[in-house]
Amino acid sequence: MNNFDDFKLQPKINDALKAKGYTKPTLIQEQAIPHLLLGSDLLGIAQTGTGKTAAFSLPIIHRLAAKPFRVLPKCMRVLILTPTRELASQIELNIKSYSKGLNLRSKVIFGGVGPTPQVNALKQGLEFVIATPGRLLDLMQEGHVNFSQLEVFVLDEADRMLDMGFIHDIKKIIQKLPPKRQTLLFSATMPPDIEKLAQGLLKNPIKVEVTPESSTIEKIKQSVCFLTKDNKIKLLAEILRDENLASALVFTRTKHGADKVVRMLEKEKLLAKAIHGNKSQNNRESALKRFREGEVKILVATDIAARGIDVDHITHVINYNLPEDATNYVHRIGRTARAGREGIAISLCDGHEISLLQSIEKHIKMKITPNTDQPYHEESRVLIEKACKKVTRNDRGQSRKASTASPKKKLSQSKKARRRRSFKG
Ligand code: AMP
Repeated sequence: MNNFDDFKLQPKINDALKAKGYTKPTLIQEQAIPHLLLGSDLLGIAQTGTGKTAAFSLPIIHRLAAKPFRVLPKCMRVLILTPTRELASQIELNIKSYSKGLNLRSKVIFGGVGPTPQVNALKQGLEFVIATPGRLLDLMQEGHVNFSQLEVFVLDEADRMLDMGFIHDIKKIIQKLPPKRQTLLFSATMPPDIEKLAQGLLKNPIKVEVTPESSTIEKIKQSVCFLTKDNKIKLLAEILRDENLASALVFTRTKHGADKVVRMLEKEKLLAKAIHGNKSQNNRESALKRFREGEVKILVATDIAARGIDVDHITHVINYNLPEDATNYVHRIGRTARAGREGIAISLCDGHEISLLQSIEKHIKMKITPNTDQPYHEESRVLIEKACKKVTRNDRGQSRKASTASPKKKLSQSKKARRRRSFKG
């Protein structure tokens, strides 16, 4: 399929796609849309950046528009569950733009904001509810939700839901859904728990797997800067002043760390905003909006908050701290090089993060090029080489344990080892 017209979607949907400048379906759209139009269940192994939102929402919009009816109060025709509020909002924005002129009503339902507008919207009956599990469950328990008219259920980013501890809430919600429905499950990875969930949830699903990881990675210029922790902020500021940088997403390990980086950048006269779970919903939305519109060039985020941030023009992803989980490295750098563009990913690695870097390189099956031109490389070389040797030694002795332990744990492991040695005299 080279053309959206081949899917024979409602003309208004095609008009909307043209208005958005989509000329050709992405791989997942090409593979999923024909089956979804026939009503199949689907297991989609894909992450954001592949065009999966349109892959599931276009056939659903087509289905709803082909058979319009007045939805009863508290009912909805489609339920989409997502792990984060940002992703829920983005999906709603996409659905609204793909269904322009079709009169389909939608509401996002998530915590952190007052429930009244959500309850009022539900009272009207809706075509789409896009929700995070916790608030939806609360509203269900308070009697505001009725699933009797539900036709399609989409579970998005199932692996992330699992990581965030939503699995029990999801199971409680699923129990209440009518058995006769179309079900779509998307996940970037397929750990055994998700596989089990999918088996119980999907009926003869078609399986669509797109692996953007390698193709995306190929388009991203990756490098690592070795330096001491104290120099990180200076180098970060220098990178962010690069005139070729249109917008950058900076990752920190903790929420507190994100706030601290914003404050330190302010001292360097660089305007940045932080986005993480401790910020209010309004605050997060306003930061994201200003970033999307280019008013703020630098967004500092934690892994969970950044998940699903769908901003096409991010030119740089900078890992201020390396992720503890190597798979998050791929999710992080996948925020750049979207929609066919190229991107730059720079990781700032101090001596304590060498083992994390090694886990990442093992995961992506390639070495990340060290930037030897950056000003702190030579200064930190001896220190880093020492750390590298130590990790390699540990690797030999303790094999997997050493490479997966967090830096904190490794520090306490080496402290313990020193203590053991001193006890032995
Ligand atoms: P998603 O994987 O759903 O987060 O989509 C990633 C990005 O690709 C979003 O910015 C979409 O607007 C964009 N996109 C989705 N489908 C297409 C398409 N067929 N052509 C161009 N851009 C697309």
